[in-house]
Amino acid sequence: MVTARDWGIQNSRSLTELLSLAVLQHLPSACCFACIATELHATEPEVRGAAQMLILQQAFKPAWRLCLKCSRTEEALVREKQFD
Ligand SMILES: [Zn+2]
Repeated sequence: MVTARDWGIQNSRSLTELLSLAVLQHLPSACCFACIATELHATEPEVRGAAQMLILQQAFKPAWRLCLKCSRTEEALVREKQFD
């Protein structure tokens, strides 16, 4: 049985990568942490933990956005720099 702790140790890197890919796929829209967690089959705390890694790398930042999936204005991860 794989526990959340095992997931965190073994897959935190891949969850971070999956999260960054998911955020880029949703552009120019954004998805809230809860919906991204559902999409990645992870929990919201795990996604928020992975998000912290990306925020520390200064690739992404948290921002309030209209969620693409649940249509609520929620905290989401967006790209730090806009390249348009
Ligand atoms: Zn949502």
